Amino acid sequence: MPGQMKLWRKPLDADEWEAPKGKIFIIDERCKGCKFCIEFCPRKVLEESKKFNSKGYHPPEVVNPDDCVDCQLCELICPEFAIFVMDAKEVERKKRVKKEKKKGKPEKTGKTKKKGKKGATKKGKKGGKK
Ligand code: SF4
Ligand code: SF4
Repeated sequence: MPGQMKLWRKPLDADEWEAPKGKIFIIDERCKGCKFCIEFCPRKVLEESKKFNSKGYHPPEVVNPDDCVDCQLCELICPEFAIFVMDAKEVERKKRVKKEKKKGKPEKTGKTKKKGKKGATKKGKKGGKK
């Protein structure tokens, strides 16, 4: 029918694939507010924030984190290297590893016995003024 034309075709194996997810990092202080990342993001993940950086620009903020497909276009297009994207699964894995390492620390440094404190004070008393 003429009025109901579909814009995109769905691949036959679309349900067998999982779209990649990206985790976005923004370095506010580097941003000069050109908005390239906001305008060219194909998934409309970013928007201009209301906050100012020290140069007086509004850095972008992530408004639709779940829609990011890790295409890294924002990273490539930013003239100030103020934004970068990492594979969300990889970020989660690194966080897990870090947590596990932290958990392991207290086991390594057990309680240590304090030695000779009482003796030291006794000696001091003996050698003091009469
Ligand atoms: S990686 Fe792609 S989808 Fe994600 S914020 Fe950047 S431009 Fe948008
Ligand atoms: S492309 Fe870079 S400099 Fe431009 S608004 Fe985005 S983060 Fe800021």
